[in-house]
Parts: sequence; C-alpha cells; structure tokens
Amino acid sequence: MAKTKKVGIIGSGVAGLAAAVRLSAKGYQVVVYEKEETLGGKMGEIAQHNYRFDTGPSLFTQPHLLDELMALVEQDQGFECQKLEISCNYFWEDGTVFSAYEDKEALRNELKSVFPEDEENVMQRLQKAKDIYDLVGTIFIEKPLNKWSTWLTRDVVKALTHLPKYQLNRSMHQVNCADFNHPKVQQLFDRFATYNGSNPFKAPALLNMIPHLELNLGTYYPKGGLRSIPETLIRLGKKLGVVYRAGEAVEEILTNANRAVGIKTPQGSYSFDAVVSNADVYPTYKHLLKHIKMPRSIRTQERSSSGIIFYWGIKKQFPQLDLHNIFFSEAYEKEFQAIFKEGTLIDDPTIYVNISSKVDPSDAPDGAENWFVLLNAPANTHQNWDEIISVVRKNVIQKLERILNEPLEPYIEFEAILDPRSIERKTSSYQGSLYGTSSNHTFAAFLRHTNDHTTIDNLYFCGGSVHPGGGIPLCLNSAKIVANLL
Ligand code: FAD
Repeated sequence: MAKTKKVGIIGSGVAGLAAAVRLSAKGYQVVVYEKEETLGGKMGEIAQHNYRFDTGPSLFTQPHLLDELMALVEQDQGFECQKLEISCNYFWEDGTVFSAYEDKEALRNELKSVFPEDEENVMQRLQKAKDIYDLVGTIFIEKPLNKWSTWLTRDVVKALTHLPKYQLNRSMHQVNCADFNHPKVQQLFDRFATYNGSNPFKAPALLNMIPHLELNLGTYYPKGGLRSIPETLIRLGKKLGVVYRAGEAVEEILTNANRAVGIKTPQGSYSFDAVVSNADVYPTYKHLLKHIKMPRSIRTQERSSSGIIFYWGIKKQFPQLDLHNIFFSEAYEKEFQAIFKEGTLIDDPTIYVNISSKVDPSDAPDGAENWFVLLNAPANTHQNWDEIISVVRKNVIQKLERILNEPLEPYIEFEAILDPRSIERKTSSYQGSLYGTSSNHTFAAFLRHTNDHTTIDNLYFCGGSVHPGGGIPLCLNSAKIVANLL
C-alpha cells in the first residue's frame, strides 16, 4: 500500500527513532531530521584507543518495549539482551558492600548477612512497589494524561480506591525511613529517585514503585552495549522505509491557521501532514515555535539533575567490581541540597561506576577495563564547570582509591569528559538535564508537557522532556503514545 501521509520527526533520540518505526509501520512516510551528524541523541558511543564506551544510558530495564518494536518488522531478530544476576553492587566508606541479587532467596541472604535488616521489610516493600506499579503504572506511563479516555476507565476507579497506599503527602525518603530500620537500606531505596534525576527528599513516595522495575522485573544488558538500542531502531526504520537526514537542523516548525504543516531547515522547507518534535520541549518552543508563547509550566518547571561523566580507560582490572557499582556519599541529603538548591556538587558525591567490559571484554584491551564514572550534577546555569570538574575529579579518585583500597589514578590511560554544558550543546537538552523535568513535586507528572499540542493540530511531542518523562523505557512509551494519538 502506497504511503500517502507524511510525518516529519525533529530529533533522533531514542523516542524519535521509536516513533519513526511505529509511524512507518502504521503507514506513514517518515523523515527524521537530526542536527548532529550521528543519530541516537543521548545514546552515543566513544570508540577510541581500543576502548568502547556508551556515552549516555548504561542501565536498561523493560526490554519488552523494544520487543514490541521488533515485532513491527517481520523476521527481525537482531536485538539480544541478557538478564543480570546482580542489578548493582553498593559500596560505603566503612567497608560495607551489598550486592542486589535478582534471585529473591539470594537477596534475602544478602540482606541478612550485610546489614542486618529484616528481609521481610524489603520483600514487603517490593510487593508493595509491584502492587502500586500494577495499579497506576499503565495510567501514568502508557496513556496521555490530557485525554478523558485515560480517566474514564475502570483502571482509574480501581486505582482511586487504593489512594492511601500512594502516601501522596510524603516524600520517598520519609516512607523509606518508616519502612526500613537500617540507614543504609533507607539510602539504597532513596537512590531510586535518581532514576529520573530527582531528589528523594522531595520526590513523592509514589516513586517508591521504581525499585519494582529493577529488583522485581530485573536489569538487562543488550548485546553490543546500550548503543545497540538506537542502532536496532535505525535498522528497523530503514527496513520500513524511514528516511534519516543527519546533520540537518530544523529551524522552524511551520504552522498555518493552527495546524502544523511542515518544517524549515537551512536546506529548505518541507511540507508534512504532521510534525513530531523529539527535541527537548523548551528549545522546541524557544527556537522552533517562536510565534507561540511558551507555556508557563515549561518556563518555570525545575529540570532534572544533569551529570558529570568521566570515561576512563583503565589498564588494570578490579575483580571486586561488577557491571553496575555505586559508591555512596556519607552526606546524601546534603548532596541533593547542593544539586537542586545550591547548583553545585559536594566534596563527597555519590559515584556510579559502570564497566561494560565486565560483560563484554571486547569493550577494553586485555587486562584493562572501561569505566563510565557518573556524578549527579546540577542543571547548567552557567557555573564555572572547569573549576568544578577539576575539584570533583580529585575527590572522586580519592574516594574510589579509599574504598577500593588500591591506587587508581596511575592506571587511567584514556579520559574523555561529558558535563552539563556539553550535554546541552550536543543534545539541546535544556540546562543539560538528563531526564527533562524533575519529579520533585507531587504533581510533577501533571506539569510535564503533553504529547500533542493543545491548540496546534498535528503537532506532537515525544522524548524525555515530555510525558511520561525521561529514561529509555519512558521515552519508548512516549513514542507509543504519539503513534496512538496520530
Ligand atoms: P535525546 O536523546 O535527548 O535526543 C534528542 C535529539 O534531538 C538529539 O539528537 C538532538 O541533537 C536532536 N535535536 C534537538 N534539536 C534539534 C533540531 N532543531 N533539529 C534537529 N535535531 C534536533 N536513561 C536510562 O534509561 N538509563 C540510564 O542509565 C540513563 N543514564 C543516562 C546517563 C547519561 C550520561 C545521560 C546523558 C542520560 C541518561 N539516561 C538514562 C537518560 C536517557 O538517555 C534519556 O532519557 C533518553 O535517551 C532521551 O531520549 P530522547 O528521545 O528524549 O532524545
């Protein structure tokens, strides 16, 4: 069947690429415009000096969302991923080490031997997280919140009958303190706020359903690394006839009498029956829709945290580390206060170390490891980043050497750095935020931009800065919502 209706997509982030696959499979002619020479947005890659790094996401959950996309293209078997036995190793300054096992019995034993925390508290919490996810996950994650069809359903009535369970007036941290005895277990569960760049001391307790994704459903590692996700989506899109125009920045979304009718780039103006912006919604309004007032909520909503990332090629191996490792700060509340209030990092930040060569040794030379070292950082409000990075680098190396009890710095033979400025420059993510807007507010979900424009017909939005939010699974869901709305 000839494809007659045309859709232009602005941006090739994971949501833009997924929307292209879905819309093309639905029968649209799709063209994706990407300002950078490489497709994939935040899901980039560095391959230098025999080291390979995923530059953006490192943690992957809910692979069924990718399977759904694969199923749209007949006989495409090209994406494989493996479930991890340990979702993350946690380290503290006093020598405590905790491995979060996927297997529940192993998890119980680890809880008993390391903390001790009554394992039942954790098991009950994981069940509660599942229950809440089952009750509200579909409503808040898979549906547009601005449509009556979302709200006039039995699912919503059922979810409302369980309202007290969500503890809407309490923060994640308050509920974690009430549910767990051991401060380290509280901290471990607080950490899940950073899944979408938020502050556990402010984010609503409803987000305590996030551990369900990691500790009940499991974490996965895709063969070939996280970069294989955008590559798979591009391959699927090409099979369906999607056209990709890398290195062509969109300058304007063309409208006529409250309808989106096309886009303009330096190479020309192109007519489309619908336009989907996968670019961050803030610059979409600021630069591409100059004639339309930016909604107040987009102007004023707090952004998620950003990050400082060191990509280190290390000519040494650390058997005590695994794929995902977290070295906790001793001053967790102060850390979030610094990020969200003071716009800086404390001297003892929490450090996330991802080493993909643990799973795929070809990512580093023999006897070496590829370390992706991420610190949560404030949004870019033009701080003196060079100064901050030089202090942070020193503190991070000292902390890692202290906890691992062995030298690290002399073994760093390759280094690249990403920071809030470069994240903003490369991906147009406003203030370099990793996940769009923060969830540091009970009603944050309702303030996120909708997936369609309320007054301009045929204009749609997908990606981390709009509903349902940032992170690969939510971005894939935003693409699904857009495809359903179209
Ligand atoms: P983006 O990736 O933001 O891409 C948008 C694209 O639009 C960019 O390529 C940009 O160049 C393009 N664009 C913008 N303006 C224009 C224009 N005018 N014309 C043409 N093109 C334009 N998520 C997880 O799930 N797990 C993790 O472990 C994780 N860790 C992360 C670590 C880091 C360091 C970073 C940066 C992010 C991480 N995230 C993680 C978040 C995740 O990467 C994002 O939520 C997701 O990739 C965002 O995808 P997106 O579809 O919103 O588009």
